[in-house]
Amino acid sequence: TSDNVPQAPEDPMFGLMAAYRRDTVEKKVDLGIGAYRDDNAKPWVLPVVKQADEILRKDPNLNHEYLPIAGLADFTSAAQKLIFGADSPAVKEKRVATYQTISGTGAVHMGGLFLSKFYPRPSDQPIYFSSPTWVNHNQIFSNVGLSSKTYPYFSTKTKGLDFEGMQSALESAPEGSIILLHACAHNPTGVDPTREQWKEIAKVIRARKHFPFFDCAYQGFASGNLENDAWAVRYFVSEGFELCVAQSFAKNFGLYGERAGAFHFVTGPGPDAVNTIGRIFSQLAILQRSEISNPPAYGARIASIVLNDPALFKEWEANLRTMSGRIIDMRKKLRGKLEELNGKDGSWRHITDQIGMFSFTGLTEKQVLKIRGDAHVYMTKNGRISMAGLNTGNVEYTAEAIDKVVRE
Ligand code: PMP
Repeated sequence: TSDNVPQAPEDPMFGLMAAYRRDTVEKKVDLGIGAYRDDNAKPWVLPVVKQADEILRKDPNLNHEYLPIAGLADFTSAAQKLIFGADSPAVKEKRVATYQTISGTGAVHMGGLFLSKFYPRPSDQPIYFSSPTWVNHNQIFSNVGLSSKTYPYFSTKTKGLDFEGMQSALESAPEGSIILLHACAHNPTGVDPTREQWKEIAKVIRARKHFPFFDCAYQGFASGNLENDAWAVRYFVSEGFELCVAQSFAKNFGLYGERAGAFHFVTGPGPDAVNTIGRIFSQLAILQRSEISNPPAYGARIASIVLNDPALFKEWEANLRTMSGRIIDMRKKLRGKLEELNGKDGSWRHITDQIGMFSFTGLTEKQVLKIRGDAHVYMTKNGRISMAGLNTGNVEYTAEAIDKVVRE
């Protein structure tokens, strides 16, 4: 009965947001935020999204019928091309099963649920996440009965990738393990492998017969270039891996609340590939039907209008560069001010080396709490800051607050 339901721990992110909202000090800074903000700290509706919305509203045939179970076909086919490339052999050979999902979260969940049912492995074999990873990974996979282990990822010493640690963990993981990888702009560290390192990672995954699962929440948002940000996924596909991808359109379209996303399962090349993908597609239909029946229409319609129109697509790319450019600028300004205050000993280099929305500052939990108390600058306890929360009005103030606490 209901008496048996224990109180769940508070989501640390929601706690942080609530504390920020309660704070009445005007100069407070929100660096916990997981969404893009413009230079006035306001949400930004992409101009190209506004245009697509107008096109949509003028469509006399628009109605509110259900989408098909697999989602809007123009959206899922464009989503495939976006992540795998227009010339992708997997797409051309029809070796990809794609379902529209409830944004990236829903795509990760669909992949987890599918693998928990069909991936052959000993029942206690874990899935491997980077340490650290997006906090939600743990609960999404444990909810579908997959236990998890971590592989080293972030080096506190270099504030970059612990590549050797990662490699040796992947080597010693039981053969055939599922390995979760962030396609680009790793959350929360902002640290990505180089292309050479990705090639080495692919070698180990191949040698150990592991299964790569890419989570791609920031394509185009990381470098501002859609191709660059999809490089790792495309490389693995070109190497003939069987893999899956969870794709989110929340950040790169600013469609957070509209829940536009896609799940892709790619089989390796071979005479049976199309049959295999047909069987997988049929099973995914049952999962989708039993969980959400039909995906939501609005966000997928907006993204589809933009992705399928060359002129709007170009404008979208410009909008992406506006967002990634502002973030890169904030990285430079934050590092610059910290070095101005602290001396150019290179210890803030990681701020500009890391990419995407987040940066792992290296601040300890104690320092994080002190900055919150003294300067009203809010960040998560692991020292992660959202670069999108910085702007020309608060970056110097934030640098001064960080400088003060690291000197103490
Ligand atoms: N994966 C990662 C790594 C993320 O950072 C996010 C967004 N915070 C997601 C998936 C999913 O986000 P959404 O469900 O909003 O697309």
